[in-house]
Amino acid sequence: MREMLRAGAVAGLLIAALCAGCGAAPSAAPRPAAARSPAAPAATGGTGSAFPPEGSSGAGSGTSATPTPSASVLPLAGKVVGIDPGHNGRNKDAPDIIDRQVWNGREYEDCDTTGTQTAAGYTEAQFNFNVASDLRADLVADGARVVMTRHSNDGIGPCVTTRAEIIDRSHANVGIDIHADGGPVSGRGFTVLEPVADGPNDSVIRSSARFGADVRAALLAGTSMPESDYYGQDGLIDRDDLAGLNLTTVPKVLVECGNMPNPTDAALLTEPSFQRELARALAVAIVQFLTGGQAGSGA
Ligand code: ZN
Repeated sequence: MREMLRAGAVAGLLIAALCAGCGAAPSAAPRPAAARSPAAPAATGGTGSAFPPEGSSGAGSGTSATPTPSASVLPLAGKVVGIDPGHNGRNKDAPDIIDRQVWNGREYEDCDTTGTQTAAGYTEAQFNFNVASDLRADLVADGARVVMTRHSNDGIGPCVTTRAEIIDRSHANVGIDIHADGGPVSGRGFTVLEPVADGPNDSVIRSSARFGADVRAALLAGTSMPESDYYGQDGLIDRDDLAGLNLTTVPKVLVECGNMPNPTDAALLTEPSFQRELARALAVAIVQFLTGGQAGSGA
C-alpha cells in the first residue's frame, strides 16, 4: 500500500503539482491537503524533524521585534505571530524530497507539494511568499514578533509537519497558513480552512474558529475578493487532513486567498497592490483577534 502510493506519487507529481495543496477539490479524489503547517505539540525536546532545508533557521530567525520606545503602545506589542507561506519555489525540482510521506496526526500526506499556478504560470509559491512578506512587515510595524516557516522562495520545503512545528515551538499567539487555491476555472473567491479536533489541536479549535471569523470578515471588508462560490460555505470550511491544522497547538487557520486558475481571481492575485491589500486585511484580522475580543492565549 505504501509502496503503491509512493510509486504513484512520482508519476502523479506533474498533475498534483497543479492543484496540490490547495484546498478544495470539488471533484476528484480527496485532495491530499494543500497547505501544511503547524506542527507538533512537543512541549520540549529537540528538533524532532529530520528536515533541514530551510526551515531550520526558521524557528528563530524570521523573527522581528519592534524595539522602538513606543512599542508598548503598539497594538501587537508583546505578541508573537506565526506565518507559513505554503509550498516553496524549488519544490518542483525535488520530487524525491517533497513526495516523502509524513504523518499529519491523522494520516500520511506528502512532505510538501508544488502548489498551483495561474494559466500564465504565476506560481502560488511566489504569491504565498509575497503576501507573507507584506503581512510580516505590517505585523512588525504593529509591534509583533513574527516567525516565518521559510525565508525565501528559492528553497525546497520544509515538510508540512516541520512548518507546524516551527510555529508551535515559537508559542505564537496565533498562526496563519497562506495559500491560493487550484480549483475549477469557473470558480472564484477565498476560503478559510479551520482545524477539526484530533488531539494535538484540541485546545485551539474554538479560538481558531474565532480567528477564522475575523479573517473572513477582514477579507470581505478590506479586499474585493468574494467568498468562494465553489468551495466551503460562506467562505469557511473545516479540514481534518492537513498537518498545519491537525498538529497546531496555537490558534490557526489556512486561507486560500483566491482561485489561481480563474482569470478574474488571477488578475487580482498576481497584482502587487492587491497582494499588499490582502496582507493588510490579514493584519487587521490578527489585530482584531489578539486585541479585540478575548485574545485566545496562545494555546
Ligand atoms: Zn497551496
